[in-house]
Amino acid sequence: MARVKIDKKICQGCGNCVAVCPYGIERRLYESGFTSCQDGNTDQAICVINGVACVIKPELCSKCKYWDCEKVCPSGALKIEV
Ligand code: SF4
Ligand code: SF4
Repeated sequence: MARVKIDKKICQGCGNCVAVCPYGIERRLYESGFTSCQDGNTDQAICVINGVACVIKPELCSKCKYWDCEKVCPSGALKIEV
């Protein structure tokens, strides 16, 4: 089971992790026209809130097989624990 850990002190808020996440807001926006993190929170794993990435649905990460969020993080703030 994957668990996402984010070091909020070094997260740059770039949103790369959210953009590649299959449960991220970018995809929710595209598919459903949501305009904020809160709008899509029923099936959204990760979001940038106030400039910092936050995992808001960790149960989705536990089922995820992609783990692209860690690969695209430029600061090393986001780590997957298995
Ligand atoms: S582990 Fe998967 S579901 Fe969780 S944030 Fe990363 S890409 Fe998204
Ligand atoms: S990719 Fe890394 S630095 Fe960028 S928002 Fe996500 S956790 Fe923060």
